[in-house]
Amino acid sequence: MQIPSILLLGNPQLRIISEAVKKEECSTFKPIIQDLHNAMMNFREKYKRGRAIAAPQIGVMKRILYMHTDKPIVFINPSFEWKSPEMVELWDDCMSFPELLVKVKRHEAVKLSFKDFEWQNHVWDLTGDLSELLQHEYDHLDGILAVDRAVDNKSLALYSQKEYIDFSR
Ligand SMILES: [Zn+2]
Repeated sequence: MQIPSILLLGNPQLRIISEAVKKEECSTFKPIIQDLHNAMMNFREKYKRGRAIAAPQIGVMKRILYMHTDKPIVFINPSFEWKSPEMVELWDDCMSFPELLVKVKRHEAVKLSFKDFEWQNHVWDLTGDLSELLQHEYDHLDGILAVDRAVDNKSLALYSQKEYIDFSR
């Protein structure tokens, strides 16, 4: 089984804005989704975490997200139709810098629209964990990383030091 490597912080490709997917391209994306799945499962096996991945993280510069919590779901050309004015602070992590935790601010709730493989439109209202997760993944499509959203100069910590972090909100 071919397992693509996940690009790591410092790789300039993570900073490139990904291209929108065209309808006629969709049929060619099955292998990309398999690659995203394999890369994430490989990461999960090693680190025991990781719920979603963005195509640019494996060097595919297309606006595709893949999430696998209880079941797999593909988000094509996602966009936010609404973001709550209320923000929350949380410690975030990323498969592109697995040793690092970053305290960021995210919108508490968002309305996300996206297309599926059949080019059907979906609109999801997201709050809590999923809202934060999809904001994180969406940022990858614009070349933005969680470290860019660090709240202040005390917002970085190594994962190995997480016993010192206050995760309460
Ligand atoms: Zn990430």
